[in-house]
Amino acid sequence: MHSFSPTTAALDAAIAAIHIRAYATSRNNLDGRVTRLSPYLTHGFTSIPALFAQLPALTLQDKLAFEFGWREFFQHVWHRSGDAILSDLRPALPGISYQPTLPDDIREGRTGIAVIDQAVHSLYQSGYLHNHARMWLASYVVHLRKVQWRVAADWLYGHLLDGDLGSNHLSWQWVAATFSNKPYLFNAENVAKFAPARWHCTGSAIDTSYEELEHIARSQNSIAPLAVSARFGTSEPALLGAPAMDGSALHIKHGQAVRLIHPWMLDDAPFDGLRIGVIHLPFHARFPWSQQRWDFMLTRMRAVTDQIFIGELEELRTPLATAGSVVSQASFNPGYREGLPLLCSTLPEAPRYFADPEQACRSFSAFWALSAASHNTAQTRNWHR
Ligand SMILES: Cc1cc2nc3c(=O)[nH]c(=O)nc-3n(C[C@H](O)[C@H](O)[C@H](O)COP(=O)(O)OP(=O)(O)OC[C@H]3O[C@@H](n4cnc5c(N)ncnc54)[C@H](O)[C@@H]3O)c2cc1C
Repeated sequence: MHSFSPTTAALDAAIAAIHIRAYATSRNNLDGRVTRLSPYLTHGFTSIPALFAQLPALTLQDKLAFEFGWREFFQHVWHRSGDAILSDLRPALPGISYQPTLPDDIREGRTGIAVIDQAVHSLYQSGYLHNHARMWLASYVVHLRKVQWRVAADWLYGHLLDGDLGSNHLSWQWVAATFSNKPYLFNAENVAKFAPARWHCTGSAIDTSYEELEHIARSQNSIAPLAVSARFGTSEPALLGAPAMDGSALHIKHGQAVRLIHPWMLDDAPFDGLRIGVIHLPFHARFPWSQQRWDFMLTRMRAVTDQIFIGELEELRTPLATAGSVVSQASFNPGYREGLPLLCSTLPEAPRYFADPEQACRSFSAFWALSAASHNTAQTRNWHR
């Protein structure tokens, strides 16, 4: 099982291991050459433009560039739509009532469907899931068990080291068909093609045709849970709305330059001034994280800051009043999004490689056409210079 270390050395090793061609041919396989960069990207150790700069052979024709584009597409939609991404962006499939809670057999990885149970076990152990496993899990939960995508998205978000409201909640909506034209479905044959044998589910309820799955997805029918004993499951790690530590007492000198470092901007850029880590508790109470995620984030935050503030951003107004300048990076995470502009004299957007059109693009293809075109034009201009 892969484990993620919250260090620049681990990030550098992941980048050094990237094989652009092998990625393209194997990324759909659970044991393919994926990068496992997502926890580092989500927490801002690095960024897509920095990765393009470090991978000079990467072109817009490469599959990896396309996947980087998906990340920035979701950030674009989040930027332009705000908290609307947390609710259906278009009407859900008609005539279906989805249940508002995630059943225990799913939470405990004892559905009796191997692909789902394996995914839940891996998630809890490593805080990571391959993209295909995320798609299978989401499709099963929404279409075959009729769970409302939002409750399941919040659950997955909390357990992932890379949990990101843009990529996660919009992907769930894409699977659910509230941000796409049709439900995403998969069957046992698809799992057998891309996953190792212990994930296979031949003979199970999902060992069926796409016509049958489509019928289930578009009707109130669901797959009945198997009565698998709790002995075969795994207990769900707690999700915690606050870190298990106290913040530091802040010591800000008169006229000092301050950089507020939130959980999604954990780069190690040098800064000539005081670096304060900020944890805005109302956000975390609303979107709690596993201990594993807190440990990953806090270990890095400690390494790249001088002090850590834990509380409500509003409380920083008085201590920061005498600072010479206050800089941070804009965040779309609710609470941080509204609170940071009130504290900062300079608040740049997070770095992006692809364009962020004023008007929200409703599909990746529309976004890609604009973004790739702007880069191709820039490249062409350079060649002619
Ligand atoms: C239901 C569901 C939930 C998801 N939740 C998250 C999430 O919370 N955070 C998150 O970062 N990604 C999420 N994704 C997208 C994707 O699964 C992960 O980014 C990817 O699996 C991370 O592994 P990797 O770094 O090895 O990816 P690689 O395949 O090596 O890709 C490299 C990078 O490209 C980006 N990327 C690749 N595929 C996608 C994609 N489909 N959508 C968006 N970006 C992509 C990621 O930044 C990734 O780190 C989700 C997908 C689904 C279907």
